[in-house]
Amino acid sequence: MSDDAIRAEAEDLLKNGLQTDVFPRADDQTQIQEIIYQLQNGDGSLKERLVVGGFTLDPVSHEGLEQACETCMYYLVHRRYCELPELDVPVEAEWSCRLWRI
Ligand code: SF4
Repeated sequence: MSDDAIRAEAEDLLKNGLQTDVFPRADDQTQIQEIIYQLQNGDGSLKERLVVGGFTLDPVSHEGLEQACETCMYYLVHRRYCELPELDVPVEAEWSCRLWRI
């Protein structure tokens, strides 16, 4: 499936009310490792990655920081893609997830 098709599917799921684990955000190594562990031991489906990753269609403000894909170290600007291996998903600049990193 193309990046565009996967991105559109993710957007549909989120627009249609998929409840994702937006909080707690991954603020420290322990939380990061817990979420990564969940992702590595899940079924790998798009829906599960969105849920466990805590995806939203808008940036999330957390501890004074506006967390959006476009400012995240894992975001590939030209491909509009998240290169974090456990997520590995096409995104939009204004989306967000709880593994956001500057
Ligand atoms: S890790 Fe970064 S680029 Fe990937 S989905 Fe989360 S906020 Fe977006």
